[in-house]
Amino acid sequence: MFHGGEERGKALAAAVECAGADGPRQGGSSADAAEAWGRVRRRLRAELGEDVFTSWFARLELEAVADGCARLTVPTRFLKSWIEAHYLDRVLDVYRAEDGAVSRLALAVRGASVREAGKRPEPTHAARADAGSRREPSATPAPAAPAPQPAAASDTDIVGAPLDPRLTFDSFVVGRSNALAHAAGDRVARHEGPALYNPLYVHAGVGLGKTHLLHAIGHAARAHGKRVIYLTADRFMYGFVSALKAQTSLAFKERLRGIDLLIIDDVQFIQGRSIQQEFGHTLNALIDAGRQVVIAADRPPADLESLDERARSRLAGGLVVEVGALDEDLRHSILTARISAVKAAHPTFAVAADVVAYVARQITTNGRDLEGAVNRLLAHATLTGAAVTLETAETAIRDLVKNREPKRVKIEEIQKLVASRYNVSRSDILSERRTAAVVRPRQIAMYLSKTLTLRSLPEIGRRFGGRDHTTVLHAVRKIEKCIGEDTGLNEEVELLKRMLQE
Ligand code: ADP
Ligand code: MG
Repeated sequence: MFHGGEERGKALAAAVECAGADGPRQGGSSADAAEAWGRVRRRLRAELGEDVFTSWFARLELEAVADGCARLTVPTRFLKSWIEAHYLDRVLDVYRAEDGAVSRLALAVRGASVREAGKRPEPTHAARADAGSRREPSATPAPAAPAPQPAAASDTDIVGAPLDPRLTFDSFVVGRSNALAHAAGDRVARHEGPALYNPLYVHAGVGLGKTHLLHAIGHAARAHGKRVIYLTADRFMYGFVSALKAQTSLAFKERLRGIDLLIIDDVQFIQGRSIQQEFGHTLNALIDAGRQVVIAADRPPADLESLDERARSRLAGGLVVEVGALDEDLRHSILTARISAVKAAHPTFAVAADVVAYVARQITTNGRDLEGAVNRLLAHATLTGAAVTLETAETAIRDLVKNREPKRVKIEEIQKLVASRYNVSRSDILSERRTAAVVRPRQIAMYLSKTLTLRSLPEIGRRFGGRDHTTVLHAVRKIEKCIGEDTGLNEEVELLKRMLQE
């Protein structure tokens, strides 16, 4: 029902980076741009190989070239962060070589800008991990985008993303799993004087209310007369950092002094060495000056591999709070609150208590899906003109429940992806070769096959070149052990899992 603040930030960030990208290409036609893009793709395919290319670049598209900036899009946030972390420099080099008009790249998630233009997002095969950037298509017309906050945007070039007026403490339901985060947020928003716990760091999985809480803190702090800047990771990377870089360090400090509260959402997406440095500087400058910083991420500070050790420990040095899964009571309360919010616009919309209880039991994932369920009930009620019964509810949310089942992954896909990731061939993985360069990827592929498919150990053994089931078991145990000891490997395997489940 809500348009994501994150998405809007993303589209804006791209617009900041590529100002005027909708205008005509300078020094050439869009046909030239398209042709150059074709060359870039061919060259990437040739340089990186077919497997790597199809894994990561097949769905990369050129949106526009303007003012020296090529604006590229991918369908998922995960793909965006993966390409940014591993291939962005490479792509830029190739681009520069093929198209003299391009000196910069901006990568955005498709759907964000499409929706900006007022169109419906294309149905894409959204990754579970990507659900964070996508909103359920609204059954009701979404209210106009909130205006940028004048307080933040006035005379400074450090511009935050707008706060969504609907994401307030009033609409935030408190339960067991988020009580501590809520209390800390509320305290931080009201507190006068030097910051209390700095930073306040909230982490939780997708859809558990981080962004909602952050916006609520922002609103409440503004109501207390504080100067608040809210940034998404993208906004931080593309808008904020470039604004900072354009200034001397003195002017930078001066600017930061004008902020009472800096809120940064989804810091797990902050990538790139120089940006990390700016992040570290900003954090240090603000915290040292006693200004409050509030951060949200999908994982605890220690697991933010893309940040350096100092930044991580600085983040861990304040108050770290985890928001847990929504229990049934909380889900029930969130649903009830959403339904009464919708009722304000649709007075005839009514959902019986047993239906609310049913939905609260069925949709166990997160707040985003609860919101989606209410939208569906509303659509059903509006279309049929009938009251929502248990049966209609069951039909309405059936695919929502079903869609949330993890995608079935094929062993062959696992082998292909792992092979391309580690630069070996699939036949190497199936072969008898025992060099380390092949053994490790093979073990990872076996481990993934065991965890992501329902195949038995003997079956997996057969699919890996006719190996014995004890070999598979050994590989699974080995990788389990290594993952426990090596956070880098753990992250790597998690990424592969997410990629496979897209
Ligand atoms: P995250 O940023 O953690 O991915 P969001 O803040 O975007 O999650 O929450 C997803 C949806 O669930 C939003 O519509 C949000 O309003 C709703 N939601 C999550 N937690 C709560 C809560 N405690 N009270 C009310 N709504 C919630
Ligand atoms: Mg969020």
